[in-house]
Amino acid sequence: MKFDALIIGTGQAGPALAARLSKEGMKVAVVEKAKFGGTCVNDGCTPTKALVASAYAAHLARRAGDYGVRVSSVALNMKKVKARKDAIVARSSTGVGDWMRGLKNGKVFHGHARFVGVDSVKVKNEVLTADRIFLNVGGRPLVPKMPGIESVPFLTNVSMMDVDFVPKHLLIVGGSYIGLEFAQMYRRFGARVTVVEMADRIIAREDEDVSLALQGILEAEGIEFRLKAECLNAHKHGKDVAIGLDCKEKDKHARGSHMLLAVGRVPNTDDLGLEAAGIRTDKRGYIEVDDGLLTSNPRVWALGDCNGKGAFTHTSYNDYEIVADNLLSNAGRKYTDRIPVYALYTDPPLGRVGMSEAEIRKAGIKALVGKRPMTRVARAVEKGETQGFLKIHVEESSKRILGAALLGVGCDEAVHSLLDAVYARTPVTEFQRRMRIHPTVSELLPTVLEDLRPL
Ligand SMILES: Cc1cc2nc3c(=O)[nH]c(=O)nc-3n(C[C@H](O)[C@H](O)[C@H](O)COP(=O)(O)OP(=O)(O)OC[C@H]3O[C@@H](n4cnc5c(N)ncnc54)[C@H](O)[C@@H]3O)c2cc1C
Repeated sequence: MKFDALIIGTGQAGPALAARLSKEGMKVAVVEKAKFGGTCVNDGCTPTKALVASAYAAHLARRAGDYGVRVSSVALNMKKVKARKDAIVARSSTGVGDWMRGLKNGKVFHGHARFVGVDSVKVKNEVLTADRIFLNVGGRPLVPKMPGIESVPFLTNVSMMDVDFVPKHLLIVGGSYIGLEFAQMYRRFGARVTVVEMADRIIAREDEDVSLALQGILEAEGIEFRLKAECLNAHKHGKDVAIGLDCKEKDKHARGSHMLLAVGRVPNTDDLGLEAAGIRTDKRGYIEVDDGLLTSNPRVWALGDCNGKGAFTHTSYNDYEIVADNLLSNAGRKYTDRIPVYALYTDPPLGRVGMSEAEIRKAGIKALVGKRPMTRVARAVEKGETQGFLKIHVEESSKRILGAALLGVGCDEAVHSLLDAVYARTPVTEFQRRMRIHPTVSELLPTVLEDLRPL
């Protein structure tokens, strides 16, 4: 079967691209081997944020007294929590499926696609050929090669989606974004939670003050941390699962009734037959791409997590926009032009944009920093959620914003105001002149910039 465009995977780039190309009159094939919508919709962003919302409701109910509200008892119905999450996921996944099946000039194939030539893939018994092929195959949880892992039961973010009970003690391996969201959510659901992390601090890619502040917030909720776990090994300990933390001290370990692995992701590129199409990957299996996301095969583009240029829904969607604009409007867009921006959905959330303090120091840029605790943000005080801080970095010479870490209530939204300023290269003086809504977290951003000191 011959198509103008063939899209493999319905993650966050594929469906939008299929729709756009079909609108342009192209004959489009879409291949999906599992659930429509991929990771974000089925076992990533959507379900975790739905569960985070349930966990927040439980947390707020327990704190109701702080607000003068009497709640006599807080009880969690985990089956209902899961049912709510499932309903939200099902709506999204079905929506993507219906959308793809409804495309003009489109055809959907269910099955695993594998290259059999430079311009063709095999799906079940059909060989599909296309002028242009777009890979949006995403990734899956990494199961680390730690000793003993094959002999213990473990959960990943995928199998966590079927959990409809509160584990007695959830042992989470990995103190980064995914691990921490699950840690706080399950602690709020009522589990004892221990996070094991190999680095000497959680979210080690962030600045140290961010890691420490978040650890403090999570510890205050009763989450336990075992950091600097340099030599991980897994074993059974009675009915429990245990993680050895030190190879020299054999009895140094953390135990739990259930273990969740949240130590990273691997791209779904090992079973794509890439060699048959001359598509190169790096050592970790990510598909090599140029600035416009074209692979080493001039007919094939790689979008989303599988190209290693982002690990977020918005980076995948942005990949779609770049590829579509370049193909259809010759726009010359590059992924290297985008400014890093993301959020960590703990409560309070962390909103991050641009360069971190560590990156600024490494680049040798002379910079200024402004910082304000959330206790001095009226909106946070009124909401009774004053944990965290706002931190913004500014280049000393140009007075332009380089980056920010906003850890506090509403900061996943507030960070966008800074993102726009970074894109527009707005000088601090101009940013400060703009009138803002009271009371919001965003209204304090110009105030943070009034009190800058050398980094
Ligand atoms: C627990 C968790 C929480 C997350 N939360 C957030 C968040 O809050 N915000 C955020 O921005 N990001 C979040 N992410 C990351 C986000 O989910 C991904 O970055 C996003 O889904 C982009 O994925 P993608 O478009 O590359 O492909 P994916 O969504 O991974 O989809 C790839 C699709 O390709 C299909 N496929 C793979 N191989 C083949 C093949 N050979 N043939 C046919 N089909 C194939 C798969 O079945 C899948 O449906 C989270 C991730 C996890 C794991």
